Amino acid sequence: MEILVINAGSSSLKYQLINVETGGVLAKGLAERIGMDGSNIVHSWTKNGNENKKEICLDLPDHTVAFNTISDLLVSEETGVIQQREDIKAIGHRVVHGGEHYTQTQIVTSEVKEAIKELIPLAPLHNPANLIGINAAEKAFPNATQVAVFDTAFHHTMPEKAFRYAIPEKYYREDRIRTYGFHGTSHKYVYEQASKHLDKTDLKAITIHLGNGASMCAINEKGESVETSMGFGPLAGLIMGTRSGDIDPSIIFHMAEEMNMSLEEIKNVLNKQSGMLGITGSNDARDVSKLYHEGDKHAILCYEMYTHRIKKYIGAYTAVLNGVDTIIFTAGIGENDALTRQLSCSNLSGLGIVINEAANISKNHPKQPVEIQAENSPVKILVIPTNEELEIALQTWEVVR
Ligand code: AMP
Repeated sequence: MEILVINAGSSSLKYQLINVETGGVLAKGLAERIGMDGSNIVHSWTKNGNENKKEICLDLPDHTVAFNTISDLLVSEETGVIQQREDIKAIGHRVVHGGEHYTQTQIVTSEVKEAIKELIPLAPLHNPANLIGINAAEKAFPNATQVAVFDTAFHHTMPEKAFRYAIPEKYYREDRIRTYGFHGTSHKYVYEQASKHLDKTDLKAITIHLGNGASMCAINEKGESVETSMGFGPLAGLIMGTRSGDIDPSIIFHMAEEMNMSLEEIKNVLNKQSGMLGITGSNDARDVSKLYHEGDKHAILCYEMYTHRIKKYIGAYTAVLNGVDTIIFTAGIGENDALTRQLSCSNLSGLGIVINEAANISKNHPKQPVEIQAENSPVKILVIPTNEELEIALQTWEVVR
């Protein structure tokens, strides 16, 4: 059974066609600049064990045209991997915000679409694009079942003491202001991979997703998220590529009242100009790591700040879980940047966390879960490649099979 997995942005469509029985990716690609000049699709496919890639520049006035083009690519003699578009029986959509109500993967109905729309004020950048993707997929693939997989859903098990903010209750009851958390698909996926790898079902874990966006999650022995570092929105918690992570909220009042910055400017600074970019001038960990090794003082400070924040959360989540069996690094930086893992785990022997420096370096970029703790470390340190698309495909398969 092939599942098409879709991550729709306001002007982009990322797709993967996955065989859920084997977990193999038959084809994948990215359509960009939809509705703008210079739109294009980069399509890759695997045929007879060979990987192929093609870039096509063509007019994509809207997402429906993009879907139709992708579907033509999937069936064409040259670039195709299936016979006809009707072979795609289900499409799994990444939807960022499911609010409090949607705690599970859902088959898309008009009610579900209404709910995604109604949640736009809570996810103004993502939910509108996710909805455009669903509507366009319904037009292009009328025979397929559309399924919504919510980024927030995995965190619905957080207890109220963790998800509430200490502000007047009416803001929670009437305005839905609470911690939701994100990256749920990734945290869940790597936790399950760790559980399989360690052959332990009652695992207490701290998952550390370090991509351009970054978040951590405390997962109890029942596999439930009980704490996570992103909050009402994705700005909270860890230092990220361009987001500040946790700051004192009074900085925002100071910027508005004393520095006469508009809300739009402040939002832009905290979301787009801060984090690694704000400290070093680059939001790409590869550049910052290179500068660090050259002795650049901004890059050194950036790594110190970035990993100090991770450490603070490791400590907090170890307390929340009353001890931890494993910590798991994943996503672009977590999987590929040995320096981040080294600094995040240094001087944590008091918590039972001791990294093996040589293993940490030699097992960089793993294709499978790998262990990088020292022999005397009671806590296992794992590096696990995340695969949000496969997790979305598997969850989609669960509800349509
Ligand atoms: P993601 O959002 O998971 O795609 O991760 C994006 C981040 O991963 C970017 O900051 C990249 O710089 C970082 N990244 C990707 N490859 C590497 C690498 N080999 N070394 C360090 N960072 C990397």
